[in-house]
Amino acid sequence: MSSNSKRRSSILSTPHSSRQPMDKITMPTQLFGENVFSLSAMHAALPRSAYDHMKEVLDYGVTLDPAIADVVATAMKDWAMERGASHYSHWFQPLTGVTAEKHQAFLSPIGDGSVISEFSGKDLLRGEPDASSFPSGGIRSTAEARGYTIWDPTSPAFIIEGINGKTLCIPTIFLGWGGETLDKKTPLLRSLSVLNQQALRIVRLFGNTSAKHVTAYLGCEQEYFLVDRTFYLQRPDLVSVGRTLFGAKPPKGQELEDHYFGAIRERVLAYMQNFELELYKLGIPVNTRHNEVAPMQFEIAPLFEEINIATDHNLISMEVMRTVARRHNFECLLHEKPYAGINGSGKHNNWSIMDNEGHNLVDPGKTPLSNARFLTVLAAVVRAVHLHADLLRAAIASPANDHRLGANEAPPAIISIYLGDMLTKVVKSVISGKPLEATRAAVINIGVSVLPPLPAHDSDRNRTSPFAFTGNKFEFRAVGSSQSVATPNTVLNTIIADSFQFVADHIEKETATGKDFNKVVHELVRDLFKKHHAVIFDGDNYTEEWHQEAEKRGLPNLHNTPQAVPVFVAPKSIELFEKHHIFSHRELESRYHIDLETFIKTINIEALVTAQLARTQIVPVISGYQMQLAKSIRVTKEVLGDFQTATQMAFLKQVATGLNELLDKVNSLETEHAKANKLVEKLPACAKAYQEKVRPAMDAVREVADRLELLVDDELWPLPKYWEMLFLA
Ligand code: ADP
Ligand code: MG
Repeated sequence: MSSNSKRRSSILSTPHSSRQPMDKITMPTQLFGENVFSLSAMHAALPRSAYDHMKEVLDYGVTLDPAIADVVATAMKDWAMERGASHYSHWFQPLTGVTAEKHQAFLSPIGDGSVISEFSGKDLLRGEPDASSFPSGGIRSTAEARGYTIWDPTSPAFIIEGINGKTLCIPTIFLGWGGETLDKKTPLLRSLSVLNQQALRIVRLFGNTSAKHVTAYLGCEQEYFLVDRTFYLQRPDLVSVGRTLFGAKPPKGQELEDHYFGAIRERVLAYMQNFELELYKLGIPVNTRHNEVAPMQFEIAPLFEEINIATDHNLISMEVMRTVARRHNFECLLHEKPYAGINGSGKHNNWSIMDNEGHNLVDPGKTPLSNARFLTVLAAVVRAVHLHADLLRAAIASPANDHRLGANEAPPAIISIYLGDMLTKVVKSVISGKPLEATRAAVINIGVSVLPPLPAHDSDRNRTSPFAFTGNKFEFRAVGSSQSVATPNTVLNTIIADSFQFVADHIEKETATGKDFNKVVHELVRDLFKKHHAVIFDGDNYTEEWHQEAEKRGLPNLHNTPQAVPVFVAPKSIELFEKHHIFSHRELESRYHIDLETFIKTINIEALVTAQLARTQIVPVISGYQMQLAKSIRVTKEVLGDFQTATQMAFLKQVATGLNELLDKVNSLETEHAKANKLVEKLPACAKAYQEKVRPAMDAVREVADRLELLVDDELWPLPKYWEMLFLA
């Protein structure tokens, strides 16, 4: 038990079982989607023609007819008010990476002192939040601060329940006055439209004439930590930056591997059941839950959904998980690396593409034609990832994710593809024209032979790969736990759509000259694999050998955010995104700026908290302890005369030297921090200084403080310790 009185009372007050039983246990089927203005809610509320139109919009992404907005708005408002909503809000995803909302009452005064409820098609379609305080990366000056939100009818409106009222949230995109995108949703929607166009061409080329629409699907596995809130509130670092900036390694960490998939503790399970119920009401199909590798680390995954909705749902889930945690006296930590020396949290991004008839383009299928299509799609994906590995890396760059990527627990910063044994052999056979090793199957001759059956989960064995083919989907594993998945998926959709365009152009051109379709496809797939197989890697991504091998293969290894994000403004990226109308050059510049600014601001706060905590909480404790030891030695000598105190003196010296070191390191941190801040007018140089000078200076402070934590009287130590936060809940 901790001897420090504050920490001790926190431990004793920790509710080891749940204090928050729910009023009644309701089956998810009873309340699933009850807070969503879904198609079925629209079916009940809208006239037939309006409903049919909305269904087309939702199913096939057809453009909304503004004429029906009034009808939908009235139905939506009535539906929401019947359920107790007093306000509505355009809900959007500014470049902060979290969501934004500004609530507005449905009530309008009518002049005679009374009010009526009002919500028109115009209110639904468009809002004008004051946008001056959202990041724009230089696109807007504060003087022309107007931005506007526009309804995204492809993602359903939903009701958020507060303790004392409810709010109707309407998913929207967020644009500047000149039409520049200021959010993460607009580019995602644009990328889906391009993917639809190009993937449909592939679908048609392989003989399907009936599918109307192709879109991407996404299932996000969300990892998170829980910490008892009583401890959390005593950690200024967790409160301000979401991660611990100090903390000695506990005697027991995750080495016994006794947490992964272990029995979920009662209090934690009560929390999970509580937030899952809230998510069910919002139509979010949470499916799995389990303990993760690190102590107090967990994961949930929903069933996969259409990507725009899955993205909204992931953002809502993160918010609900945070809110409900507090009801259980937990804090939900979504940061990528809350604790040093213990696994961090990611968000596996399971991605596939399907047509509206349910054919998954990344599923090998059973017929020669579907096999051929699959291999073509696979070759296109390999091409896309090889050409744009750096963009995928940039899309997941953040100061928090920097702690994971490349550490031996998460995929490295080098982006490669894992295909599994069998598929790798298939690729080799296609390239060499030689029969498949270890099977009797003939040379893979696309369109003629059938692929050998791929053993289920063959592909899932390698957990070290950042981008793995897992049977019928690609799993991008380098995404960070706190990140919005909008940007990584915008990049993924765009680079793959671009590859589809390349493939479709080629096949159309060649077959137009009278060449045999199968022959054209076979040669194309072979050439693509030949040219791009360098990005395929099935070995252990954590090893040093891979880093060397990857360098030989010319794969980029962008270690940190300041190295990664300039890729957004490389000529190759500008050309790609402008060609597909995803981002303009200016929008890319703005995103690059925001990423650098966010990086700088984050490390700036971390540096300040590190220095302040060290000076105001840790230094006083050490110097007090030093005094105590010194006094004790002196008094002992006085009382015992010639008693030998050399060992105690040596210990005192160790503490006193530690204090000197700590002060020196804090001084250097403050010096480096001040130097970096002087560069703030030159963002790239400033970010570089924060990366190369300030971050190591912070680590140096921590290293000394963590050493001292293990020397100093436990009674005096002010911050909850790792073993307390990780094991007592
Ligand atoms: P794990 O990777 O831990 O084995 P699962 O196999 O349960 O996890 O799947 C993880 C996620 O992948 C889930 O969200 C699941 O719905 C999603 N998923 C499954 N099939 C597809 C698919 N075809 N497209 C996109 N996501 C999928
Ligand atoms: Mg997974």
